Amino acid sequence: MLSFPSKKRSKEDVLATMRAARDHDVQWQQGKAFGLIYHIDEAVDALLQEAFTMFFAENGLNPTAFPSLKKFETEVVAMTASLLGGDAQVSGNMTSGGTESLLCAVVTAREWARAKRPEITAPEIVLARSAHPAFEKAAHYFGLRAVHVPVRDDLRADVSAMIRAVTPNTILMVGSAPAYPHGVIDPIRELAAAAQELGILFHVDSCVGGFMLPFVRKLGYPVPDFDFSVPGVTSMSADVHKYGYAAKGASVILYKTPELRRHQMFVSTDWSGGIYPSPTLAGTRPAGPIAAAWAVLNYLGEEGYLEITDAVMKTVIKMREGVNAIPGLKTLSDPEMSIFAIASDEFDIYEVADELGKYGWHLDRQHFPQSLHVTVNYAHVAVADDFLCDLAESAAIVRAPSLRKGITKWVIKLANALTRILPEHWVSAAMGKVSGLLGGSGGGLPERMAPMYGLIGSLPNRGDLKELVLDLLDSMTRYSKE
Ligand SMILES: *Cc1c(COP(=O)(O)O)cnc(C)c1O
Repeated sequence: MLSFPSKKRSKEDVLATMRAARDHDVQWQQGKAFGLIYHIDEAVDALLQEAFTMFFAENGLNPTAFPSLKKFETEVVAMTASLLGGDAQVSGNMTSGGTESLLCAVVTAREWARAKRPEITAPEIVLARSAHPAFEKAAHYFGLRAVHVPVRDDLRADVSAMIRAVTPNTILMVGSAPAYPHGVIDPIRELAAAAQELGILFHVDSCVGGFMLPFVRKLGYPVPDFDFSVPGVTSMSADVHKYGYAAKGASVILYKTPELRRHQMFVSTDWSGGIYPSPTLAGTRPAGPIAAAWAVLNYLGEEGYLEITDAVMKTVIKMREGVNAIPGLKTLSDPEMSIFAIASDEFDIYEVADELGKYGWHLDRQHFPQSLHVTVNYAHVAVADDFLCDLAESAAIVRAPSLRKGITKWVIKLANALTRILPEHWVSAAMGKVSGLLGGSGGGLPERMAPMYGLIGSLPNRGDLKELVLDLLDSMTRYSKE
């Protein structure tokens, strides 16, 4: 156990410990991370930091105390609404991120249904399997049922299957523009029309695309309609801390009308501390992210975002062509913007990720189908060639036949067979053993994760997998001495 610090320490000492703790973090400044960091350059960093620290102490909980924050938040919301085809009716709030925006959208739908469709006692949301897990989290938190629908072969939401999944209990349908895993935009126009016809709400999750797609389209790339200009769209989410390149903790949730947003609002009228209104999930709200978001939108403006988007899209085209030119590798489907997935029909793509990890590249492993996730942002413009070079090398290594790989495959096959015949509670134990055999260390994640991921993907019992991952989450969020 770590005890509470008993003595004071000098500022230099405290900061030195923190600097040292960063040593093994992913080198995002060198563009080695995909999806976790959105970065332009030092000039923008300086602006964000200055704006953020200018408001590091303020609290967004009470706009009457800080008219400055009220101005920044309402302006960021209005600017985002106008970027996303909204009219003066569109209303919203800033939140701490995409997840909070989606939690708001779901709780709003629930409250809307309670008011308008009181006969529904077990509300459901219909969404594609590719939609962000935050919807499932919202259903988990707020007592709704999330009904997942498989995607089409092109990885986009299947309109007729989504409509078939609607029941008398459905209150909300979801489309993504684009969905995070493969970067493809769902058929928003068709889905929204269906939702409108069915008399249910329709949310467009534009968390990752909201500050990218409008500029991609303006540059002349084909982008299907995805925003408030589409009839039937009742709410949207857009993360300023993704392609808005703002400081983290900044997203926008938008509703078609102020009446709809009203269902999101909470007020306690009888608290001894006074009347307590709160528009979003958080109570105390950090002002830094609000201030930094306002700063970067005004600093770059459409002119700046177009320049950045232009460079990013040219890099995306180069990277996708580069990937497809590497023997054994391919990109999936036909994504509209700057996100794509790398897969292989010939070898284990997770092994390629392990190899890339040796060069410091951090790519997420996806399943259904197995692929590696790439979100290209401005930080990658300068390193795309290096990435392709390391990727080609990694693919070549994985392609080469080797004794070790033969053994690995054989062990996975055996473990798979075992997990099918062993009693359920043995499965996790067997997995732990196998990943240990394949180079897993006692604690933490093994350096080579491909065998483990391969095994996880083919586990017949997903409930068991859930327990296993919850154990891992528990251990990662618990103090341990290095
Ligand atoms: C990132 C993302 C989210 C969640 O946003 P967070 O800021 O990570 O909470 C939701 N939907 C999509 C499509 C995303 O890309």
